[in-house]
Amino acid sequence: MGTSKLLHGAWVVTMDPDLHVYSDGAIYVEDDRIKALGPSSLILPSFSKQAHEILDLSGHWIIPGLINTHVHTSQQLARGIADDVDLLTWLHERIWPFESHMSVEDSYLSTLLCGIELIHSGVTCFAEAGGQHVEGMVSAVERLGIRACLARSTMDTGEGLPVSWDSETTDSCLKVQEELFSKFHGSAGGRIHVWFGLRQILNATDDLLLKTKELADKCGTGIHMHVAEIAFENKHVSETRNIEHGTVTYLSKIGLLDSNLLAAHSVWVNPNEVDLMAKASVKVSHCPASNLRMLGFAPIQEMLTAGVCVSIGTDGAPSNNRMSLVDEMYLASLIHKGKVAFTKGATDPSALPAECVLKMATTYGAKAVLQEKNIGSLEVGKKADLVVVNPNTWTMMPIHDPIASLVYCMRTENIDSVMCDGRWIMRSQKILTVDEAEVLNAASKASTELLKRANIHIPKRMNVCRSGCQQKNSI
Ligand SMILES: [Zn+2]
Repeated sequence: MGTSKLLHGAWVVTMDPDLHVYSDGAIYVEDDRIKALGPSSLILPSFSKQAHEILDLSGHWIIPGLINTHVHTSQQLARGIADDVDLLTWLHERIWPFESHMSVEDSYLSTLLCGIELIHSGVTCFAEAGGQHVEGMVSAVERLGIRACLARSTMDTGEGLPVSWDSETTDSCLKVQEELFSKFHGSAGGRIHVWFGLRQILNATDDLLLKTKELADKCGTGIHMHVAEIAFENKHVSETRNIEHGTVTYLSKIGLLDSNLLAAHSVWVNPNEVDLMAKASVKVSHCPASNLRMLGFAPIQEMLTAGVCVSIGTDGAPSNNRMSLVDEMYLASLIHKGKVAFTKGATDPSALPAECVLKMATTYGAKAVLQEKNIGSLEVGKKADLVVVNPNTWTMMPIHDPIASLVYCMRTENIDSVMCDGRWIMRSQKILTVDEAEVLNAASKASTELLKRANIHIPKRMNVCRSGCQQKNSI
């Protein structure tokens, strides 16, 4: 027998095509789907008798589950190992050694730790950029109760690769991913999708690019790839692949730009390439914090104006540190207001308004992960992926414009409860599916061991006094 829940008395921000907001709304959930939604005065009398759980959410808001379209769950154990270093040091001396020494168990713990942070920030679905051990991620996602599009990090060429990746051939990269697809796609009651991964064009032969596209099309799934991250990438592509501009132009030429390509970052794209992306219905994951830190300003407004579906991602912990989509929404809105002033010489505080940022984190995110029929908005027939926000704190009061408050005022701490697939996975800020303290403890130990194995040393910045050292100015 199934379960049913009736939530009522809340401000319900549906993000449906008409952007309906109910000031006293109710949602009736049966098993994993929304069965009814509307004003409490209509829904409550109709469904209160049959509901197993009735929850009065007066003073609270309900929004769709947020969708993080670019995250490296395997890098969560690497938070803090590569702060304030240049990109090559970041990649060659810290991240690649870290990732290549990971075990399946490390990946499992890293994904659990990352998932805890994602759920606390209201995320019900994420797209993994590509880690080494997809089976570890699968176990963690199953347990967390969240929704995910998982991909394996795939590289068949490139300089400076760790030994363990050096041995990978184009065929082995493809074969492993095909196996992962047939084993895990649709698992965890359909919450897990398996995608094909391409780390970046600098680490992919044309053979890998083309065969990945062929396989993803055959399987009816997506491709997750870092695209046009840095100026050097475009330069390298134009020199080695004999093309005028960079990655996007080249991917268009060989037929990779398509509606099932999720292009992460996409910072260094010119106006012509923005048009190419729009025409091909490519999806972009905009990662505000990590772009600011290492890559630059992506032409997000230009993309949105051209009709590109732009969603939001956190990227991994070593390039952002915070895995909160709430923070990313706030940053996205600010960066592009500032960018207008910088590039056009005139301020425009209306650039990337709150309602647009909310779409990027919900409905556009759903399109980016190829699941817009099921998630991204609160509508009858869709999956019950939703977030309860408690705005009654010093971070958000007073409230005059709730939609603006969700983007400009809301903090991660205002996320109260999270439901995914009709099941509560967090209530009153307590994750229900895993023991948070246990995960934190195990992840911390695993991270220390992993850094030792990978021989990664983080230089000391200041004169840190450890216990037992001589205290200089004792009283
Ligand atoms: Zn990334």
